[in-house]
Amino acid sequence: MDEKQRIDDLAVFGGPPLFRTPRSTSNLVRPDINVFLGYTKALFDPKHARSRTSIVEDLERELARFHETKYCVALSNGFWTLALAMKYLAMPGKTEIVMPSLTYRRMADVAAWARLTPHYCEVDPETLAMSAETAEPCINQNTALLLAVHPIVNCCDIEGLVALSKRKQVPILVDAVESAYETAGGKKVGSFGNAECFSLHASKLINGFEGGYLTTNDKDLVTFLLEARNPESALGRASVQCGIDARMNEVHAAMALASLQDLHHQVERNKHRYMHYKRLLEYVPGIELLAFNEKERCSYKNIVVRLTSEWKLSREVTLSILQAENAIARPYYSPPLHLKPAEYMTIFADMPITERLACEFVLLPCGYFVSDDDTESIVALLLFMHSNADELNSRRVTQ
Ligand SMILES: *Cc1c(COP(=O)(O)O)cnc(C)c1O
Repeated sequence: MDEKQRIDDLAVFGGPPLFRTPRSTSNLVRPDINVFLGYTKALFDPKHARSRTSIVEDLERELARFHETKYCVALSNGFWTLALAMKYLAMPGKTEIVMPSLTYRRMADVAAWARLTPHYCEVDPETLAMSAETAEPCINQNTALLLAVHPIVNCCDIEGLVALSKRKQVPILVDAVESAYETAGGKKVGSFGNAECFSLHASKLINGFEGGYLTTNDKDLVTFLLEARNPESALGRASVQCGIDARMNEVHAAMALASLQDLHHQVERNKHRYMHYKRLLEYVPGIELLAFNEKERCSYKNIVVRLTSEWKLSREVTLSILQAENAIARPYYSPPLHLKPAEYMTIFADMPITERLACEFVLLPCGYFVSDDDTESIVALLLFMHSNADELNSRRVTQ
C-alpha cells in the first residue's frame, strides 16, 4: 500500500488504488469453519433426515435465548420477516404505517408488499432515528401500525415509542436489524413492542449468508408466521391467508449458529477496530465519529462519521475519492425514502431535519476484512484529502 504524496497519486486521477481488493462497509464475518461444518454434518446423518427437528429449530431456540424472548421464528431474509410481521400486526381496516424516511432503502417496498402506505416521520437529530416526539404528529385515525427502526449506531428511543404505542393503542413493530446485540435502557433488544425483526444477511452482525428472524412473546403471531412462511406445510395448507415461500434453509441456519457462537469475540474485535478509528480520527479536522453509547451493550460494528463545516469537500466528492481507492465508503441512508420515486402512494410533510442529515454522514469501511493497517491507511487518506481540499475542489473529481 502506497502513501499518497501528490494529488495525482489519487486513484480518481489515475493513480494506483490504496487497496487492491475492496474494503467495504459490510461485516462479512467469518466464524470458525469447523464449527460451521460441524453443524452441517447433521444433514448427512440418516437419522437427521427422519427426525422431526431441524437446524433451523436449533437456531430459533438459541436466538430466543439470546434475546430473552419466548419465541423466535426464522425466515428467508429480513425483508419478508418484516413484511409478514407488518401484515399480521396492522390494525384491520386501517392503511398507514408510521415510519422514518431516513432508513433502510427498501423499507417502503416492504410496506407496499404488506399493502400499507408509508407515512414518513421526521427523525431526532441526536439519535438519527424516529422518536415518540417525531412519530406522534403522524398518527391519525387511519394509522394501522408504528414501525420503530433502530439507527446503525446505538438505539432509537424505543421506550418512548412503546409508551406512545400504548397510549395511542396502535401496535408497534421494531426493525432491530442494526441493534441485534444492543441493550436499550439496560434491557436486551428483542422483546420491545409487539415483535422485533432481524436480518442474518452476510453484511449484518450475525452472518447466516442470508436469513431473517422475528422475536416476540405473542404466540398467535408465531402461528401466523409458521403458516405464512411455508404454504406447503400442514399449517399453511389449512390456512386461507396469502402465504409466501419464505423458509430459511438448514445450511444458512448452521452458518448463523456458528456466527452466534463467535459473537462475543466478534464484538471484541469490532470494539478494537472502533477504538483504533476513534484514536486516529481525532487528528482529522472536519470528521466527527459517531460514538457508541458505552452505558449500554453495543456491537461497535458500524463506523459512521459526520462531515462538519471544517470539512471542505462535498460529501459526494469525498465518497468518489474514497471509493476510487477501493475504500468503499457509503452515504448514510441517502437519498431518504420520501425523495425516491415510488410506484405507490406515500404521505409526508416537510422533512428539513431528515434532508439535512441525509447529506452529512459517511459510513467508513468496517467488518471482518478491515485490519488495523487498513484503518490507518483510510485515516491517512482522509487527512491527505483535508490538507489538499482547496486543490481538490479546483479540479474536477468525476463521480
Ligand atoms: C438489511 C436491512 C433489512 C433487510 O434485511 P435483508 O435480510 O437484507 O432482507 C431491513 N432493515 C434494515 C435496517 C436493514 O439494514
